[in-house]
Amino acid sequence: MRIDILTLFPEIVEAPLRASLLGKAREKGLLDVRVTNIRDFAHDRHRTTDDAPFGGGAGMVMKCEPIFEAVESLRDENRLDRIVLMSPRGRRLDQALVQELAEAGDLAVICGRYEGVDERVSQGLCTDEISIGDYVLSGGELPALVLVEALSRMNPGVVGKWESVETDSFYSGLLGFPQYTRPREYRGMAAPDVLLEGNHALIERWRRKEALRITKQRRPDLLNNLQEDDRKLLAELVREESESNRENTSERVG
Ligand code: SAM
Repeated sequence: MRIDILTLFPEIVEAPLRASLLGKAREKGLLDVRVTNIRDFAHDRHRTTDDAPFGGGAGMVMKCEPIFEAVESLRDENRLDRIVLMSPRGRRLDQALVQELAEAGDLAVICGRYEGVDERVSQGLCTDEISIGDYVLSGGELPALVLVEALSRMNPGVVGKWESVETDSFYSGLLGFPQYTRPREYRGMAAPDVLLEGNHALIERWRRKEALRITKQRRPDLLNNLQEDDRKLLAELVREESESNRENTSERVG
């Protein structure tokens, strides 16, 4: 999979692409991410890439010609299976979309700036518009990095152990379970004994149950398509919670 990020500000994306897991994955050739400066495709001597909006109004709009030409310049190296415009009005990024794109082939990711991008980019060039959430940032560079990093985790070589992806929030269908490390006790808060007793079957069961507990509290909408084993664990959890509520109530009344 090759990903090309197209931006007016390459410096915003370059440092994060060199750091940590992304940087290592690129060095090892597991991830082919390149950056193209849209300004290199401006035609005039001032290298203009934005202009005032037709109809008036605040701010500037990114011109369409440099963006079309920048994307087209990649055709020999990138199959351009999906051409994505990062945009607050796009489809909201979630794990299902990350998985869909990870299987889609090569991507070009266009970062908007200013008041946005001439509509003809979305209309005549892009296959997708993707938002990272219902808020507005000043540019598409950070959203593009969010997308690239999420995609990178779908490549089994990038994250040291594939198991850590499988147990991630959303990938497993639930939110992630709680994690602890040394010290065993800190400021009166102790790590659960089960994690230190070495019984792997019990540890796995505890983790799945905790993932269910947290998902039930914070994102009950994710519990709709549970497998049989998870349904049983959830029922057990609900029983335990209502027993503990009953006990608390009778202690208070008593
Ligand atoms: N006027 C635009 C609107 O109301 O939809 C917002 C433009 S924003 C200031 C500039 C650029 O930042 C956008 O073209 C887009 O590329 C990027 N951007 C901002 N928020 C985003 C988000 N939530 N998701 C993805 N991209 C975003």
